[in-house]
Amino acid sequence: MIYTSTRGGSERFKSAAAIKQGLASDGGLFMPDVIPRFDVTDFNALCSMSYPERAAYVLSRFLDDYTCNELLADCTAAYSAEHFKGGAAPVLPLGDNIRILELWHGPTCAFKDMALQIMPRLLSRALVKTGEKRTACILVATSGDTGKAALEGYRDADRVKIIVYYPVNGVSRIQKLQMATQEGNNVKVYSVKGNFDDTQNGIKRILSDSKTAQYLSDNGYFLSSANSINWGRLAPQIVYYISAYCDLINCGDIKTGDGINICVPTGNFGNIFAAYIAGRAGLPIGKLICASNRNNILTDFLKTGTYDRNRHFYTTMSPSMDILISSNLERMLYLAAGSSRTAAYMSQLADCGVYSIDSDVKAEFANNFYGDFCGEEDTSAMIKNVFSEYNYLIDTHTAVGLSCAQRYIEQTGDTRRMLTVSTASPYKFASGVYRSLTGSQYEDEFANMTALSELTGTEIPAPLACLTKKSIRFDPNTTIEAADMKDVLFRTLGLS
Ligand SMILES: *Cc1c(COP(=O)(O)O)cnc(C)c1O
Repeated sequence: MIYTSTRGGSERFKSAAAIKQGLASDGGLFMPDVIPRFDVTDFNALCSMSYPERAAYVLSRFLDDYTCNELLADCTAAYSAEHFKGGAAPVLPLGDNIRILELWHGPTCAFKDMALQIMPRLLSRALVKTGEKRTACILVATSGDTGKAALEGYRDADRVKIIVYYPVNGVSRIQKLQMATQEGNNVKVYSVKGNFDDTQNGIKRILSDSKTAQYLSDNGYFLSSANSINWGRLAPQIVYYISAYCDLINCGDIKTGDGINICVPTGNFGNIFAAYIAGRAGLPIGKLICASNRNNILTDFLKTGTYDRNRHFYTTMSPSMDILISSNLERMLYLAAGSSRTAAYMSQLADCGVYSIDSDVKAEFANNFYGDFCGEEDTSAMIKNVFSEYNYLIDTHTAVGLSCAQRYIEQTGDTRRMLTVSTASPYKFASGVYRSLTGSQYEDEFANMTALSELTGTEIPAPLACLTKKSIRFDPNTTIEAADMKDVLFRTLGLS
């Protein structure tokens, strides 16, 4: 299997090289030249496997330059009960039709762990497979969830260092504490003056500076990033859709071959695109419901065929979906429109912030995706209703998804099972959840967690509960200037 750029560049890579490099040199994203097919025999085999075994089985078809033994060892380590206490990706019923896929049982309580627990292992092996002698230095700019999940995933990984920069005023107190207390010998965390864009731009400047790259290379390092445009983050996300289908078969809820719908609360279009690939690989999917919050650029895009980022950016209670540029949409454009049209759309987006897809491309989207969005009040109402009706507590992102899933069922009468993805523990967004249930909230986020636990009789997940007891390793009050991010990087690596 060969990986090439969505924009048609000349690189022809095995998966390990694509994972090591992250982004293609022409700015595109890596995609496999063929999508493997899983047939009835595969599904029968998968049904009797554990989650780590399913993950190794599915990944071996996409990452065919990794051996089955390597993948099984990595998946077994990544998805162990030690890292995923409630099981890696459990499926629960919610009423007649809706099934919830809980993806937040990992060490940082959000679904990013599903990929970031395995991807560092894939990268460490990629260094060996590609004959890379240098050490990888991962730079991350984060507005919250990705930074912590990447730190936790890459901590103590072989021949990898990771530096996370976060905007001092752009992350919640919990997220700050999660990062400030990070353990591991190869990790470093800095808070940066300014907002997320300042931090993100600072990283982009470092990554695109060829003098810096040469200097680091002379000293045995190369830079890479850990965001969701890397195929090493996408491939592990295909697994849990296939796994959930097997679980539904195993509990007698569906029969092999029955179609299901899948609803995904979406930001960067990574998670829902993984579901689409699962479908192309043989999972019988009816419709993919693309659920957005008030930043409903994808809803508009699916309706009109025009992607227009020239609009207001709203801060919502589902912050991980507050996104105006959904990077992974480019992969879907590539499959529907081919590389030359994708390159043209992307350059229009860069130049004017807007592009319109051709009618054949729009038809391909419409065949597979149904877009909808949910505002703040409906999100709160959904949290409250689900708790009072089912005694089940959901976070703000999951509420956006459920709201769109319910409306889809009402509007279409589609009776197939609706698998709805739950992307975060309710305790990770405790103030929004508590406010939705009671109409008020505490100033302090830990007070919201405690109150939420007392109100609902549910437990605060251990990784969040123990935060106040951990020692601070990276003082959140020592803030650097965005202009100093590169110097700080050099100093961290012991260069100057
Ligand atoms: C990242 C994230 C999302 C959005 O996922 P995408 O792959 O970016 O679409 C949704 N919910 C939570 C809690 C997240 O952390």
